[in-house]
Amino acid sequence: MQKQIKYKFNLKILLNCLVIALAILLIITPSSALEKDVEKSLPSLQIHPLPTPLKEWENQPYSGDYFEQIQPSVGGYLLWSEFPIKIYFDRPDNPDDTAATTRRFNQWVNAVEQSINEWNNYLPITEIYRAELADIIIERSEPPIEPKIDPETGQMQIPRAKTAQTRYEFYIKNKKLSHKMIIQISPRLSAIATLSAVRHELGHGLGIWGHSLDENDVLYWSQVSASIPISARDINTLKKIYEQPTRLGWPLPN
Ligand SMILES: [Zn+2]
Repeated sequence: MQKQIKYKFNLKILLNCLVIALAILLIITPSSALEKDVEKSLPSLQIHPLPTPLKEWENQPYSGDYFEQIQPSVGGYLLWSEFPIKIYFDRPDNPDDTAATTRRFNQWVNAVEQSINEWNNYLPITEIYRAELADIIIERSEPPIEPKIDPETGQMQIPRAKTAQTRYEFYIKNKKLSHKMIIQISPRLSAIATLSAVRHELGHGLGIWGHSLDENDVLYWSQVSASIPISARDINTLKKIYEQPTRLGWPLPN
């Protein structure tokens, strides 16, 4: 009996080691190969001029930032270099309709507009009415639920439904490496929660691809019930990001 337990235990360790070794192999091999391909086929890393509102932004005394939490993508830091940033967001077909569903939709739109106005103080943003031409799209829809496999048990885990999500896509525009941000904000949030969610996700959309560990920042990693305004630390971080080199917005090599 005891022997059998020992055998099972060793087998589990062996299996775990194999899984880890395989994972390391999978992680190391393609990424180094990918990096070489990226170097050859993408623009080199260069710095764009700082947009005027960020150039003028000075925080005295300096209240800090969370730049070390920000992840650059394979295309570099996810910053914008053409202004104003074009944003499209869902609107009801008939906003004057008095139905409860339309009233809720209008509340959602108000929250989106308010968030855009707040961030517009630091980066020029404009609303456009054709989604296909937008840099940032804000959809009034439920983010997808992504089941994960628990590596320990091999069982499928269904996470709690998310209420907001931002993702990005790369494409080529005028021979330049470009990106598009797609934000999804759930229709079932309260007005105040919608405002918090859009403010946070729009921060990601503007380039803050990471989370603050301080609950007084809009990009705090966890949802907080109170509506936190954009902090000096959020803008200090944003400014640092826009001072970084990126491949985005630069022409592809010939
Ligand atoms: Zn976030």
